[in-house]
Amino acid sequence: MLSQIGIAQKPIDRNAKALQSQKIEAIDFSKVEVNDRFWKLRMDKVSNVTIPVCIEQTEVKTPRISNFEKVARKKGEKHEGIYYDDSDVYKALEAIAYSLKNNPDAKLEMKADDWINKIAAAQLSDGYLNTYYTLTGLKNRWTDMEKHEDYNAGHLIEAAVAYYNTTGKRKLLDAAIRFADHIDSTFRLQNRNWVTGHQEIELALVKLYNTTGNKNYLHLSHWFLEQRGYGYGKGVIWDQWKQPEYAQDKVPVKEQKQITGHAVRAMYLYTGVADVAAATGDASYMNAMKTVWEDVVYRNMYITGGIGSSGTNEGFTVDYDLPNENAYCETCASVGMVFWNQRMNSLTGESKYIDVLERSLYNGALDGLSLNGDRFFYGNPLSSNGTHARREWFGTACCPSNIARLVASVGNYIYAKSSEVIWINLFVGSTTSIPIKGNNILIRQETAYPWDGAVKIWVEPDKKIRHQLAVRIPGWAQNESAPGNTYHYVDTSKKTVTLSVNGKPFPYKLKNGYAVVDREWNKGDVVEFVLPMEVRRVVAIDSIKENRNRVALQRGPLVYCVEGADNGGKALNIILQDKQLFTTEYKPELLGGVVVINTDALVLIPSSDGTSVEAVNKIITCIPYYAWANRGKGQMQVWIPQKITDIKIISN
Ligand SMILES: [Zn+2]
Repeated sequence: MLSQIGIAQKPIDRNAKALQSQKIEAIDFSKVEVNDRFWKLRMDKVSNVTIPVCIEQTEVKTPRISNFEKVARKKGEKHEGIYYDDSDVYKALEAIAYSLKNNPDAKLEMKADDWINKIAAAQLSDGYLNTYYTLTGLKNRWTDMEKHEDYNAGHLIEAAVAYYNTTGKRKLLDAAIRFADHIDSTFRLQNRNWVTGHQEIELALVKLYNTTGNKNYLHLSHWFLEQRGYGYGKGVIWDQWKQPEYAQDKVPVKEQKQITGHAVRAMYLYTGVADVAAATGDASYMNAMKTVWEDVVYRNMYITGGIGSSGTNEGFTVDYDLPNENAYCETCASVGMVFWNQRMNSLTGESKYIDVLERSLYNGALDGLSLNGDRFFYGNPLSSNGTHARREWFGTACCPSNIARLVASVGNYIYAKSSEVIWINLFVGSTTSIPIKGNNILIRQETAYPWDGAVKIWVEPDKKIRHQLAVRIPGWAQNESAPGNTYHYVDTSKKTVTLSVNGKPFPYKLKNGYAVVDREWNKGDVVEFVLPMEVRRVVAIDSIKENRNRVALQRGPLVYCVEGADNGGKALNIILQDKQLFTTEYKPELLGGVVVINTDALVLIPSSDGTSVEAVNKIITCIPYYAWANRGKGQMQVWIPQKITDIKIISN
């Protein structure tokens, strides 16, 4: 039996990534200082509120930490909770690591070190680290592919890499390395088949490879990908979920064309596939990913960028099955969309992936976190009769720490670089320094996005240098509501995006969705442009039956909704006819500061005796979707009816 304890390698320079075919490399959040109102406020909220909530839930209100303590005590105590609960500890630690970078906090770091000591004390001498099997019987470990052992390991690795990157402390990283070596020797080196039930370890191993430079972890990640689709999960994960499609195990990954099964598992898998494709240059993985992506975005994605419509399998059903009130749309799945689409952008240099990333980030994912930072949505429906409320925590608590780690590391998604190009992917007030051709280029971005479309970018090289600046011109600013033909604007806008350099219009070329500004840059150069923030009416393809005769409103990257709280308590009795005029207004006191959309609508009001209905013209107010359900339970909908046939008049 190969039971080796990993020898800790000396980590390589974090910037020296050995990615062969990766066209674009994202600038790590730790090198990006976010300072705009929209995101900085949220990052601070995560540091000050969400992370303390995660700590309290993990340590005090649930026995997640105490399971680790029990393992170390070796007194035969019982495991409490669910077999995947270890992962919540690791995800909270990962969020803490990002938060410590943004907002250094000695007390919080001490708490993290305390947890890390407990985790390390629960690791067995052969590297195995899992409280469920260690407390319930080690003879059963690695016998059930669905039991999330490798999923937990993946989150341990992600936390360890993040904590090492922030603090330089190795204890958790060394534990992660030992566990990864244990898994490598148990499976890949013995060629013992294993189809991980809940993917996650694939993407985590690529992070470990990038951090340590040890190719074994890349090989192991690749090996996990190659396990799928050959029937190795038969009788194990297939039995539990009735069909291999649930775990993306029907056909080999390279041959996959359709999105199936559990949404979060799929997103984590495909993020790992794109990572391995970037590291190995394997075109067949890349091509499979492009085809599956089209299946997701063109036929199975909500307008909010949310995915996975069904609660039954927490995932996908058939094309265009996108109900609104019963939308599952797990927060974690939208977080996964952000991960995957970033990797797809890095592989291809195409902006459409960032268009989708932005949609999922600002709508489907952000909706998972309350404005106060202490309440969460697991599912994110697009319509509510007033029964949906944000919750303090969940039995299966994957979503809270997932949205916390995403918001805390949002700096990861703003900038990217390739050998001679600086890429501006998201519009977020921030500063970074990017090395290009031996020169450091300070980039400073100023904007009130997403409320205002004006963006100003200073490009300050150490010394005069010629390079390209590629600025994403979002599809939504070019008459494309979303990639594909699932959602489209009712009207065509004539507004275009004019870009100027040092006050003079710059005739840019659009390449793969980016305005390419190719020039010699000097200190003090400034690029300015305005993205048109018009209110756009969106309709869905007729195949989505729930959205027939309905319209949604989009302004910039934000999808809007109508909520009862702004409209006399009701939101399901509204008809939005054609050709209304919209006005917008920034309300600093409302919902943390939002731009609302006001418009005339027909509101149907039943008479007090219930025998007739009156149609009244009223001004209705719409708010960004992500901000709903912050004023208690109430009616809400994104897709507003255009005809009486689709209306609910009687409802509370
Ligand atoms: Zn979740």
